[in-house]
Amino acid sequence: MVNYMEKSWERNYKQNQQNYYRRTKEKLFSQYGASCKCCGEKEPAFLTVDHVNNDGALERKLFPTTQAMCISIIKQGFPDRYQILCYNCNNGKRKTGTCPHVIAVPQL
Ligand SMILES: [Zn+2]
Ligand SMILES: [Zn+2]
Repeated sequence: MVNYMEKSWERNYKQNQQNYYRRTKEKLFSQYGASCKCCGEKEPAFLTVDHVNNDGALERKLFPTTQAMCISIIKQGFPDRYQILCYNCNNGKRKTGTCPHVIAVPQL
């Protein structure tokens, strides 16, 4: 009985951690428009937090996990140094500083 209780506590703890992380990301994404700022992608699984000034490497040193970074962004009141991009646009931007979408489709 004790073992069962411990296991279920552990499982709940892990689930709570995951839920907490999901809620943190949802809050962050919805604040920044819940879609890719470049191409308009809305599928949350494809979205990521992008550093507008491409200074992500510095922040990755400050924050050990994406979750820690998300929490810090919320605490800072969602500064415009961040935006939501999908992984494609995030990668596209990483190479040249501007996503190829922007070059190909100027109105975006
Ligand atoms: Zn995109
Ligand atoms: Zn793009």
